[in-house]
Amino acid sequence: MATTCNMSDELLTESMWIGFPCSPCKKGGIIVEASKYCEECGENMCDGCLRFHQRFAATSDHTVSVISKTLVPKERITEVTIPTYSTSSPYEITGMCFVRRGEKLALLLTERYSLFVKIMDMNSNKVVSSVSIQSEPYGVKHLPESDKLAVTSLDTQEIVFIEIDDELNLRIIQRVKIPQSCRGLDVISGPFNDNIVLVSGGHKHDTNKGSVNIYGVVNNPDGIQLFPLKKFQLQSFRPNLKSYQTLYPKNVTIDSLRKKIYVSDGRGVLVLDFAGKSQGTFSDPKLDRSRGICCDLDGNVYVGGEMSANILKFDCHGNLIGEIADKRVGLKSPFSMCFDSSTKTLVIGSQNENVIRILRL
Ligand SMILES: [Zn+2]
Ligand SMILES: [Zn+2]
Repeated sequence: MATTCNMSDELLTESMWIGFPCSPCKKGGIIVEASKYCEECGENMCDGCLRFHQRFAATSDHTVSVISKTLVPKERITEVTIPTYSTSSPYEITGMCFVRRGEKLALLLTERYSLFVKIMDMNSNKVVSSVSIQSEPYGVKHLPESDKLAVTSLDTQEIVFIEIDDELNLRIIQRVKIPQSCRGLDVISGPFNDNIVLVSGGHKHDTNKGSVNIYGVVNNPDGIQLFPLKKFQLQSFRPNLKSYQTLYPKNVTIDSLRKKIYVSDGRGVLVLDFAGKSQGTFSDPKLDRSRGICCDLDGNVYVGGEMSANILKFDCHGNLIGEIADKRVGLKSPFSMCFDSSTKTLVIGSQNENVIRILRL
């Protein structure tokens, strides 16, 4: 039989392809695929072990869930500890994005309470440079075809522009005031300039209710200028909500191919087109307090649940494809996410821990 890899079939033991082996069987030295997971025991189970488990009075009322076929097994997840510069403040990896410089793929991380923007080389998984913006960094995005990053500063209502060189050094070049609070942002790349799309609202400094704000970016010799282009109030997208506290716009991601803007607002995802027209909303009972959000080139949308401690994958119509990570792989409170299509890598940042998780999908 023709194969596309060099490894002989005999070397491919069954266990190499089993992402979720049955825990009781594994203890007995047998590797079989589990179909269910017991919440109380914290164990994966095959159908045979599950029947055994349900026969005992002590375990018969345990909550058992189906193991999603989309869950990424632990072997494909790398945990990286990010060095901290402070131990006193709460820790939060608030935002992240990938940037490519020549051959190098790097990951930008914003840490809201330490005030730092850091950059990690994805080859060595080491933080190679950092810069303090002296205010609370939230979202971060690389401006395509440039050596510039845009970082939202939540407490000062500014967008901070940072230059990145080929050696991955970071340097603040400009701060631009805007009239809204700044949370997550993404960039629509245009033929002549870029548009920055940012979400605001849900913060004590906010004077405005939750909104999506689109700015044009012009890079003149005397500096970067931002021009307000459009602003959409989000209240109209969930008209049954009474107060802005219940609308919680935190992060935004853009599918440029399909011209869709996705906003995670705590209750799920709001979908807008580039003209600001509502394209609907989506969520799932398994998703509690939607927060981090990103999409891939195929139009799939990854959404993190802060309280449910999981990542769900939806297609571009908002249909749930499945759960790809949850507390079984160590997720506690996922806050931020980004996806690199060339390496099919999803990175997750969290609250209250200086650890990121790199998932090879
Ligand atoms: Zn079993
Ligand atoms: Zn159990």
